[in-house]
Amino acid sequence: MKNKDFWHKRFSVGLPLMITADEFRSCLETHHDYIDTVYLSSPMGDRFHAREQIAEQLKNREKVELFWKLVEIIKDKKYDINLEIVFNTPKLIPGDIKESRELFDQHDIKVDKVAVLDSIDWYYDSAKEYFPEAKIVQSVNNMKNTPEGLKTYKHKYDEIILGRQLIRNTEAARTVKKLGSKCVLLLNNGCSFICGGCREKAYCKRMYDKAREIHSAEYLYAQQSIMPFELHDDYFPLQYYDYFKLATRNGDADYINKTLDSYVNNKTEEYLAQGTKYYHLWGKLAWHIPYYDEFNLDRIREIKKQICDFSGSESERV
Ligand SMILES: [Zn+2]
Repeated sequence: MKNKDFWHKRFSVGLPLMITADEFRSCLETHHDYIDTVYLSSPMGDRFHAREQIAEQLKNREKVELFWKLVEIIKDKKYDINLEIVFNTPKLIPGDIKESRELFDQHDIKVDKVAVLDSIDWYYDSAKEYFPEAKIVQSVNNMKNTPEGLKTYKHKYDEIILGRQLIRNTEAARTVKKLGSKCVLLLNNGCSFICGGCREKAYCKRMYDKAREIHSAEYLYAQQSIMPFELHDDYFPLQYYDYFKLATRNGDADYINKTLDSYVNNKTEEYLAQGTKYYHLWGKLAWHIPYYDEFNLDRIREIKKQICDFSGSESERV
């Protein structure tokens, strides 16, 4: 088991909007030692949000007020947490990144990281121009699907996020390090493995159903989730991963608190003893949910042991 020092400032969590300011402050009080970054998208209209739910929430003025209250809390010096803006949709128009900078300036909020899509050239240039002091992150939404593909990114990134089908791919993590970037591992994937970015829910479901023709629901969950024991018991070559990203933007305070608690304190059985719904903490894909009650943790553990790809090298284990 990894001790708590191992997790110091290792997590990147999404800004939740189904939370009160008090709940959020209490969450940061408890977990700020472990949280390096909170990421969010600009509350400037639909085209800024890759997730439909967030776009809907931020149409509501009260939610926008809450958004700024939460941002103030993140930037409270005592928590020492970085703020990351994600420009991870292909719909932005020139001027959007500049206006985001102006908006955050108006609120006197410093932005520490900016995530962009490599596929649209001007995003990177614009991010560099308007957030010159920020680190630039390659968004998981535009992740190349192979280790070789990662080498074709046009720009040099401070961080590259690996999710979906690259989560168990050691070669991909090694490639990120060779590119000189920090490697961020998305833990609780909310997208079907072969979907490729979740632009459409129906497509994501079709991809899941296609995989189900070959594999059991239990296998797909084992493959697509990352459970706490995998990190604590070295199912992963952790030396390649600098940060761990959690998809928490559509979660509430309870979801964030329990997800962080489970990963930091290696609690898998403890949560599952309280209900199979807690499989959700470690794999957010909705298509798994109807099968939770049939899942067996021992079998999942066995599958995970078999599919973890360490390229056969014992020495890669930490
Ligand atoms: Zn998807």
